[in-house]
Amino acid sequence: LSDKMKHWYEGHKFAAKLYHHILTVSDEGREAREYLRKRGFTKEMIDHFQIGYAPNSWDFLSQFLKKRSFKMDEMAECGLVGLRESDGQPYDRFRDRIMFPIWDRRGNMIAFGGRVLNEGHPKYLNSPESEVFNKSENLYFFHQARPSIRKKNEAVLFEGYVDVISSWRAGIDNGIGGLGTALTENQAKMIRRNADKVILCYDSDEAGMNATYKNARILQNTGAEVVIASLPEGYDPDDYIQKHGPKRFLQDVISNYMTFTAFKFRYYRRGKNLQYEGDRLNYIEQMVNAVSQLPRAVERDYYLRQLADEFSLSLEALKQEQTEVIKSQQ
Ligand code: ATP
Ligand code: MN
Ligand code: MN
Ligand code: MN
Repeated sequence: LSDKMKHWYEGHKFAAKLYHHILTVSDEGREAREYLRKRGFTKEMIDHFQIGYAPNSWDFLSQFLKKRSFKMDEMAECGLVGLRESDGQPYDRFRDRIMFPIWDRRGNMIAFGGRVLNEGHPKYLNSPESEVFNKSENLYFFHQARPSIRKKNEAVLFEGYVDVISSWRAGIDNGIGGLGTALTENQAKMIRRNADKVILCYDSDEAGMNATYKNARILQNTGAEVVIASLPEGYDPDDYIQKHGPKRFLQDVISNYMTFTAFKFRYYRRGKNLQYEGDRLNYIEQMVNAVSQLPRAVERDYYLRQLADEFSLSLEALKQEQTEVIKSQQ
């Protein structure tokens, strides 16, 4: 471990302490406290996830870092401060934002996700990629969730920080989150090394559905069993918990997951009008293709029957089609 890296971790830890202090006890933190309270964040959640608030100031953090003799070029490199072009003086990168610390898998604090209060752009400002913060090799809250992921042999993957936090409060301690980017093979392997099964619980909007499809494939390629916990259209896990409570979230969403194949039945339907013959045939072909990739005969039979029933087709015809699909893939 280089000295520079140690300084980076220390800088983040120090900043997180200050931000947390500002959020929880200071006058400047009042509006942020109120915002979080309205969103259902409890004291327990704020403490457990070390959430903070960066005040609306250009030099709050940089002054404190200076006083503690942190090197400003190092603090700029890891994105805690920026350096003014005119005179190289440091300024705070995060201002007037709710701060979510991000840790690496060993528990070193390596970055922040900063959310604006209410509306505003960008909604989340994250630390820049650097030697310590590689977005494609880390997952939100992995270091804490890992023991539980191993024990349960199962991980729950969410899209956002807030989803991980709300779900934790609902009782899910094996929940982890993406970092605002597509899941990478590295991240998939990181999960796979600790569990056989992954529950994907993404936002139920266009972006979330597409990400579910893409990431489920990536996870499946590592040999993991992937299932989908889906939400009503327009909800994300946190929205659902706020509206319906933790009990219903656990029962009706998390425990009520579907297989990836069942998800495809829904996914391939989007943007199609099954009244039209072309769309209908296209859909059936996509599903036969998906089903033909399943390793177990029982599963293939189960879904083909479902398809046959729905479109009044003979099972024989579908099986024939499937044989041809399999042949053409060899
Ligand atoms: P909230 O509930 O606070 O509105 P969210 O988690 O529902 O937040 P989403 O818009 O669903 O927010 O985004 C999911 C995740 O994607 C966020 O947690 C964040 O990591 C990332 N993200 C969102 N917007 C941005 C952005 N503008 N820049 C970088 N990352 C972003
Ligand atoms: Mn989203
Ligand atoms: Mn969301
Ligand atoms: Mn949300």
